[in-house]
Amino acid sequence: MGRIFLFLLLPILIFASQVKPFKWNNGESFLTFLEHKKLPLSLYYNMDKEDQKLTEDIPYTANCQMLISSKNTIKQILIPVNDELQLQIYLTPKNRYSMRVIPIVSETYKEVLYTQISSVPYDDILQATGSKNLASTFVKMFNGRVNFKKDLKSGEPLVIVYEQKYRQGKLFSMPEVSGAMIEIGGTRYALYRHSDGRFYDTKGAQIEKFIFKLPILNSRITSGFTKSRYHPVLHRYRAHVGVDFGARPGTQILSTGDGKVSFAGYSNGYGNTIKIHHSNGLTSLYAHQRGFKPGIHVGSSVKQGELIGFVGSTGLSSGPHLHFGMYDGSTPINPMGVMKKKTEGFSGKEQKVFVAIRSKLDRIFNEKLRTKPVKRRGYDFQDTYYVDKDSFKVKVF
Ligand SMILES: [Zn+2]
Repeated sequence: MGRIFLFLLLPILIFASQVKPFKWNNGESFLTFLEHKKLPLSLYYNMDKEDQKLTEDIPYTANCQMLISSKNTIKQILIPVNDELQLQIYLTPKNRYSMRVIPIVSETYKEVLYTQISSVPYDDILQATGSKNLASTFVKMFNGRVNFKKDLKSGEPLVIVYEQKYRQGKLFSMPEVSGAMIEIGGTRYALYRHSDGRFYDTKGAQIEKFIFKLPILNSRITSGFTKSRYHPVLHRYRAHVGVDFGARPGTQILSTGDGKVSFAGYSNGYGNTIKIHHSNGLTSLYAHQRGFKPGIHVGSSVKQGELIGFVGSTGLSSGPHLHFGMYDGSTPINPMGVMKKKTEGFSGKEQKVFVAIRSKLDRIFNEKLRTKPVKRRGYDFQDTYYVDKDSFKVKVF
């Protein structure tokens, strides 16, 4: 009896600490966050420029967590900056706080969903997979091509081929769809992701409307978009959630699309910055500007190609350039993925690549339509975890 009691008590003795999940506060700066938590501001000031800039892109949807001792001491804070990297604030054995950028360890699986319509695709996909992200991705893909409300009948099949990340057995981050199809009244509507990352229909016609144009003319990209890159010399993990264009100071910066200015001001990392909210829900960001075009302020309406400001080197910038970002909500996406493409349709080598991708996906679609497999749901593990200090691996708490 005593032994059983001790066994039950043991986890409590070991883990007298507590994990508190929290959401990143919309609009809160990293410095204010440290102040609120009574953590040393030197944590921020000792970071290098690149890491400091990273703190300005923490999505307000970020699920953070804090490990607190029984005496209410913060032992660890994890703040994801994207689905690959997170900031870790931790108490060292010498009782000092330290911070670093570490990878988020997750597993990626290739998955195929086959299901039949019983209500609307969104609900059916959610029901089968538990993934709101997958359901909304599918609906967005076919938006404007298929009228789900009108044309769809019960029992008609849909197939999605995608990659899904899992963290501790839980769905994590956005699924990456490589192809999807739905049959309506015997007609198949299928979309395929080409090697350029964009979706095309069976004939190779581009289905997304790429309304954006480059914000700077005659310039070259000096640094591309990356969610996580290991710097072999500095031995650090880095992210660059935008695209840098090298340009002389004073070069004109143009709005990438029609929209409304949602921010025009100064931020520590990005210097003079303008953010423009576009009607499709995306927000573009233009950083390190020398100055804005007179009259530009929050609420201004701008047209595509309209002058908004001038290239400079304000904020944490190593030289004159335009840092150009694109956000879906608060999540940074690669701006080059939504820029207008010059070519229409495929030819030559590109056509061959597309045909190969399409054939492979069609084979998967056909097989699933024939075998009608039942989707097994992923398992839910515990919500809480901590990160091992050497391996970066997540451990169940
Ligand atoms: Zn940049």
